[in-house]
This record gives sequence, structure tokens and C-alpha cells, in this order.
Amino acid sequence: MLICPVCKSEYQEGFKTCSDCKCDLIEIPDVIVKSKPLKVGKIIQFLIGILIILYSPILSYHFTSNYFIGSYDPDRYLWMLKAFHSSFLLAGSIICLPSLIYWWKRMRRK
Ligand SMILES: [Zn+2]
Repeated sequence: MLICPVCKSEYQEGFKTCSDCKCDLIEIPDVIVKSKPLKVGKIIQFLIGILIILYSPILSYHFTSNYFIGSYDPDRYLWMLKAFHSSFLLAGSIICLPSLIYWWKRMRRK
């Protein structure tokens, strides 16, 4: 697609200058004009966040078990398990949040 850099008017193929501004038209790819493709990075970031949230029980169990090799104290074990679990939930949410905000803003713009 051809576009005037000054007044942003759109022109069909074949035109070389803007009829209003008399300046040279610039070529821009159609992909940008039609719709911005979903950012892959945002999707990956979101998926990592969701995975951390989903696997937080397993992850926290794994981390707590590693931490308590040798000694075992049920109270401290449970406390560590909960601490790890909330940390993973928090981390997952923080990772997800920017993508959710980005998509929310995108939806509102349309
Ligand atoms: Zn123009």
C-alpha cells in the first residue's frame, strides 16, 4: 500500500506523489495496515506464567523436599511448602499480568 508521509492519505498502486501535498508517496507493507499480529513474545510470557501457576504445587513440593534433605520437621516443612507455593503463585501472576494488560488495552482500542 502507498501512503502520503504528510497527510497519511492512502493511494492505489501506480501513484507516485500525493495530489494534495505534492510529496513522494511511501510504500508500507499491507500486514501493518490490516491488523497487528499477536505478539508471540507476549503469548510465550503468558504461557510461562500460567504454567508456573498450574505447576506451583508440584514445584513447591519439589523445592521444599530438596530443602529438607536430612532433617524433617513437619511444621517447618508445611510452612516452607506454603511459602514456596505462594511465591510461585505470585511470580506466575506477575509474569502473566503484563500480557493480560496488553491484551485488555488491545481489546479496548477496537
Ligand atoms: Zn498528502
